[in-house]
Amino acid sequence: MVLRHCTKCGGKRRKGTTDFIKHMDKVTLRIRNVPVEVCGNCGEKFYSLKVARKIEEIVETYKEMMSKISPKETMAREIDFSAPGADEACA
Ligand SMILES: [Zn+2]
Repeated sequence: MVLRHCTKCGGKRRKGTTDFIKHMDKVTLRIRNVPVEVCGNCGEKFYSLKVARKIEEIVETYKEMMSKISPKETMAREIDFSAPGADEACA
C-alpha cells in the first residue's frame, strides 16, 4: 500500500532526503542522504519500507560492532545511505 498523504494531518508529502540519526549506547550513527517523504504541512517524515529495512540493516551492523569495542569507548559514525558497503569501511 502506498500512502500519498500524511497519516497525521492528511497534508501533501514531498520527496526529499534527510539525515537519519540514531543514538545507541556507545555509538551515534548518522546516515546521510536517506530518501524520505516529508509532509509539507506538519513535517512528519515517512520512510519507505525498503529504506526502513536498509536503515535497520545498517543499525544492526553497528550494534554488532558496538559489542566489540570496550565499554568506555564511544564513537560517532557518519555514513552515506547510498554508498554501497559503507559500513565495511569501519572493519
Ligand atoms: Zn502532516
